[in-house]
Amino acid sequence: MIQSLLSRPVQKVPDSVRFAGRVLFLAEDPDVVRRQLDGEDIPFDPSAPVGSSAHPALRDNISTDEITPAYICYYFDETLGDFPYLGLKCGEEFPIVRGSVRKGNFVASVSGKRRGKGSSREQSPYAEMMAGIRLVIAENIERIYRENCQNLGVFTSTDFDLIDRVRRGEEIPLSEFTAHEGGITRGIIEYGGLFNYNVARLQGKVEVPTVATPPRPMTIAEKIFARHWVVDAAAGEIGIPAVKPGDQGFVLTDIRFSHEYVTPMSAIFFEQLVGPDEPVNDPSSVFFFRDHLTFLDQVMRPEHREMGLLDVANQLEAKQRTFAEAKGIRLYGQLDKRLNLHGAITAAGSEAICHSKILEAHALPGQIIIGSDSHTPHAGAVGCVAFGVGTTAIFNSWITRDVRVEVPKSFKVVVRGEKPANITAKDFMLEILRHPYIRNGEAIGQIIEYAGEAVSALSVDERATMTNMAAEVGAFTGIIAPDQKTVDYLVRQRGMSESDARELCAGLYSDEGAEYVKVIEIDAASLRPMIALPGDPGNGMYVDELPGEVTIDIAYAGSCTAGKKEDMDMYARVFSEALSRGEKVAPGVRCFIQCGSREVFQYCQERGYDGVFDAVGATFIEPSCGACINAGPGVSRTRDDVTISAINRNFPGRSGPGQLYLASPYTVAASAIAGRIVEWHAEGETHDVASELANV
Ligand code: SF4
Repeated sequence: MIQSLLSRPVQKVPDSVRFAGRVLFLAEDPDVVRRQLDGEDIPFDPSAPVGSSAHPALRDNISTDEITPAYICYYFDETLGDFPYLGLKCGEEFPIVRGSVRKGNFVASVSGKRRGKGSSREQSPYAEMMAGIRLVIAENIERIYRENCQNLGVFTSTDFDLIDRVRRGEEIPLSEFTAHEGGITRGIIEYGGLFNYNVARLQGKVEVPTVATPPRPMTIAEKIFARHWVVDAAAGEIGIPAVKPGDQGFVLTDIRFSHEYVTPMSAIFFEQLVGPDEPVNDPSSVFFFRDHLTFLDQVMRPEHREMGLLDVANQLEAKQRTFAEAKGIRLYGQLDKRLNLHGAITAAGSEAICHSKILEAHALPGQIIIGSDSHTPHAGAVGCVAFGVGTTAIFNSWITRDVRVEVPKSFKVVVRGEKPANITAKDFMLEILRHPYIRNGEAIGQIIEYAGEAVSALSVDERATMTNMAAEVGAFTGIIAPDQKTVDYLVRQRGMSESDARELCAGLYSDEGAEYVKVIEIDAASLRPMIALPGDPGNGMYVDELPGEVTIDIAYAGSCTAGKKEDMDMYARVFSEALSRGEKVAPGVRCFIQCGSREVFQYCQERGYDGVFDAVGATFIEPSCGACINAGPGVSRTRDDVTISAINRNFPGRSGPGQLYLASPYTVAASAIAGRIVEWHAEGETHDVASELANV
């Protein structure tokens, strides 16, 4: 507990609010936008025909990428106020330039359907707020963007009648923004944001709605929520008998982590709102990672370099590092440059990608883990509830150690039977992602629980591929109940005693009669190697169904999803087989292997995999997110480049402008050798990787 906050004056915002400033309509017509930036207040009459001069058509589907493109997110302070809507595409033009919104004295921003879709980046509403926008009005607003607005104190509404009232300078009752909200959200709006609300909560000034769900059969995730439920934050009272979907409250976290894209902005919030010299609550359970941008200097576009963005991006590293040092927080940082097998100096990588290290070294069954990244569910492979949150939620968790939740509904995917030898967890996921329940968006925000013999047969590394890709499902998180494989993993990986590991897993299973809104069954034995066509991980099909030959230019084997020890075993197996046949990476194909952590890198060195990768013609690079986030070797350069990749998502532009196919580690490695997308077939069940490697 940060004592100074207990005596900090905190009060609700006034009962009514007046928005003094202009209204900016984010219109489809770039001229309409430009005229407003030049000072004209355009008419807006919703009863007039759409597209007429009295009712300009508004942009729908404005993503957070358009509000703040990724390179803008290298900024992490009020400078962001120069940039809102820089990526806004109106027709074929981008009418908004640096500083134009801030100069225009706008206080409200209006658009059409699905405002704020896409990534959870809080830089978007923060950039708007720093440019003067205090109210966002849209036909409908995406959940995470809306929560981020509320957490920051930016008002949101779907009521277009507010536009004229804002323009007339009317006092608008606060109740108009809180009327349909639950107790916690209402409180956050009334206190002007999550931070003030939390200060008031810690001081006992707000009553968090009580949850009194009677005992009921629960899923494993619900049990974990119930164990961590905050009953009285001030008294440290934690845990209730049961929860059900829809219950709202706060849960105590065991681990909180963030990476360099988010930590600096959270740190600025902490320093400004809490105080630069105040301590972080329980720093031993907070972790920082320098993992996303360590290779950025190798791939940054020249025009961005000329804008000075490399220096700006490097500030992210510096800010995170100095904040970690000041607060005594463990930082998994950037590696020094080192020599490769040929004695050349390699670029510096990262100690570890956040998800990889959290699973390798920290996550335990039954924990609640929050991270500043959508793939935080990775750690659900050992039976935790792990989920991604925004910047303000991370910063608040440094104060309170807890996080706001609404218990999600759960659905179950049962993978039965025995999988063929060339099928992996990635193939399971590409099959699951093309299921109509997922493709139609019905799973959004739910918890996906994986079960069945084929899941039980997977190692923890492979299970992590499935929980990691709960992000692509659109789920709140993914989880697998711990079992003997989990116990063995904790003993082997963490040096834990078997009895301690078993004790951690006690009671962590879903009860008979637990509630699932949907159960999907998959027969593992019927699966064949999968591929996801460019554009979306849900574009799955069997490799043997590809309509024609797909030649490749790049094979990328790495990331948090596919840079684990078992993934390396798979790449090494396929490549060592190729070498024994006298084959190498196909001419014209660039192949990259990138581990999730130094621990995995050393594992490869101990087994001689680095020699295999080198001999086969693949480039073995230091750990980092790299090409997965369009920031390292393996990115495409042109629209015509074709990549096969073991990463988790292939949205347009994710890894460069080219066409990106997703596949399993086996398929990626086999395709690198063939020079086109092919399946891999095991060379018999008695295949001995170790002896083949000895012959390399
Ligand atoms: S490897 Fe890719 S998916 Fe994983 S944390 Fe990094 S950027 Fe995100």
